[in-house]
Parts: sequence; structure tokens; C-alpha cells
Amino acid sequence: MQLATHQTMPLNDANRLGLDYRAEAARLPYGRPILDAHVHLGDVQAAELFFQIADLFGVQRVCTMTNLEVWDDMADRFGDRVVPICIPNYLKGRDDPNQFTTEWLGRIEDFRGRGSRIIKYWAAPRGRDLHPEALVLDSPLRRQGMKLAHELGYRVFMVHVADPDTWFARKYTDPRKYGTKREQYPAFEALMDKYADVTWLAAHMAGSPEDLDFVQGLLDRHRNLLIDTSAAKWQVRELSNPARDRQVVRDFFIRNRKRILFGTDIVANAHDASFDLFASRFWALRTLMETDYQGDSPIVDPDLHMMDESVDPKSTAHLRGLQLPDDVLADIYHHNTAKMLAAFQV
Ligand SMILES: [Zn+2]
Repeated sequence: MQLATHQTMPLNDANRLGLDYRAEAARLPYGRPILDAHVHLGDVQAAELFFQIADLFGVQRVCTMTNLEVWDDMADRFGDRVVPICIPNYLKGRDDPNQFTTEWLGRIEDFRGRGSRIIKYWAAPRGRDLHPEALVLDSPLRRQGMKLAHELGYRVFMVHVADPDTWFARKYTDPRKYGTKREQYPAFEALMDKYADVTWLAAHMAGSPEDLDFVQGLLDRHRNLLIDTSAAKWQVRELSNPARDRQVVRDFFIRNRKRILFGTDIVANAHDASFDLFASRFWALRTLMETDYQGDSPIVDPDLHMMDESVDPKSTAHLRGLQLPDDVLADIYHHNTAKMLAAFQV
């Protein structure tokens, strides 16, 4: 696929190629509705812009991590287009540790009262800096929350297990505090066995797009595991890594076509709201999945400079399209998420 609009628009960190994302969206091959299983809509105003752009990219409905304080307004405005995921209030949590403990337990009930059946356990290693215990995946407090969520009828446990390899190389330099990347996983696997009757949705290709053999092992050992494609910079950088065999990556998606959900991880709030910011994530992930594009990603990837200081801070990763078959795209873009949501009705 050739770009039609190279250098026709002003440059910014979400658009180093000067693309007209509106025009590029209209040229993408896939033409049916798409569901996004992983977004963060922070407020109604930013969500208005988000949905204008979602419309351009065919994204009909989203599962969103939205604070309880905002949820009712969000649901009033967008109705069926938004599906709530139970989360603690991370913003308040910076000053108030109760947000991750007693307040969170209360919110599990409150979100359930608003129809939520999906709960997110964010367990990135850096969570230990926010709260040393409560954001660890299998801490006593988290286990208490899981038990409560299960009793209340949550049936999707969404999880962020690990961060990019690049972060373990540069940011998590104290393994005694954060653990190694591999050490993030045993607790996750044990919990998937313990809660075998819930669907586990592991964000960001289960946190290991760098090692799809490892992800395959997780999928093979745990039939109740789904993964999402979210975090555009990370996925593009790793899944398009020129050192890796495109066919192997493509085969992984085809083999696991029933287990992979399209997700972007777009964050939309008063601080993060621009046309190019949102459009670039949809464009990059859709271009990765459905086209044969080979060239620069339009999105600045700071990890490239972090890993090698001789690399320009404004560098963008290579983007190599997988050109997945149309019926595989239909599963990943729509059917798998629709099936997950439909299971709540029974
Ligand atoms: Zn996210």
C-alpha cells in the first residue's frame, strides 16, 4: 500500500509523515464495523472528538476504562457505544492510597451496579511506585477484590501484566523491586487457573509482543485467555521489527484469530486530545493488521532514543503490514469482542 497524502499536513509527534488521516482512513481496505476492546475515555468532551475519529476508522463501539465519577455522563451521551470497565481512580490515587484499597473495593460494587462485567487489574511493575501492595497482581488486597468481583458477576478479568522489554532494560533497573519481565507471569498463570470460569483479557499482546512463542505458550496453557492488540507504538515497534520474520508474526495472528481482540489503548482526556493523536493510533494499528504497507510509522517512538542515544529523539519505528485475510480481520476487529460481550447476556 502506498500513502496517498505524504507530507500534505503539518508535522507533529503523532504525524511525522504529514498524513491526512481522514483521507488515509477512507483508503484502508477493511470496510465493516470494528470494536475497540481497550480505550481510556477520560471525559465527555474528549470522547466527542474520539468518536468523530472512531467514525472515520469504522470503530463502532469501545470498552473503556472511565472513572466512576464520569461514567454516568459518558453513558448518557454515548449509550451503547461505550462499555464500562471497572477501574480505581488513578488520578486521586496519587494523593490518596485508599483509592487503591477500600475505595476500589467499593467501586467494584458501584461499577457492577452500572452494568459492568469487565474489571481491569493493572499490574505494571511501576504500580509499585503508586502503591507498594495494592497494584501487585496477586497481593492479598487484589485477591480480595477478585473474589468480590467474581461473586458480583464480573466475567472478564482484564490485566496488564508486563511492560515492554525496552522498559525492563532501561526503567526497571532494580529487579529486586520490580522483578524481571518473566517474573511477572507466574502469578498471572496461577490466577487464570484459579478463576477458570472467567475470561482473562491480557492487554498489549499479553505484554510480550517481543516473544510470540511465549505468548503462544500462555494461550495454549490457558483456554480462558484472550489478548488485545493495544498500545500502538509498542506493537508497531515489535511486530514490525525488521529483525523478525514477518511470516511468523502473520502466522501467529492467523493461528490465534479467535483469541485476539482489536484494541488501541487510546487515552482521551483534557490533556490528551487531538485529531492526529487519536487518528494515528487507529491508522497505525489498522495499517499493521490489514495492509502490505512497509515504511516509517508516523508516530514518534521515544523508546528508540531511550535504547540508543545516538538515535534522533523524534525517530519513528518501522511499520510492516501483515495484510491479514479479511475473515481473520473480521474475527479480530469484531467477532471476538462481540462474542465476549454477548456472553454477559446469558
Ligand atoms: Zn490501557
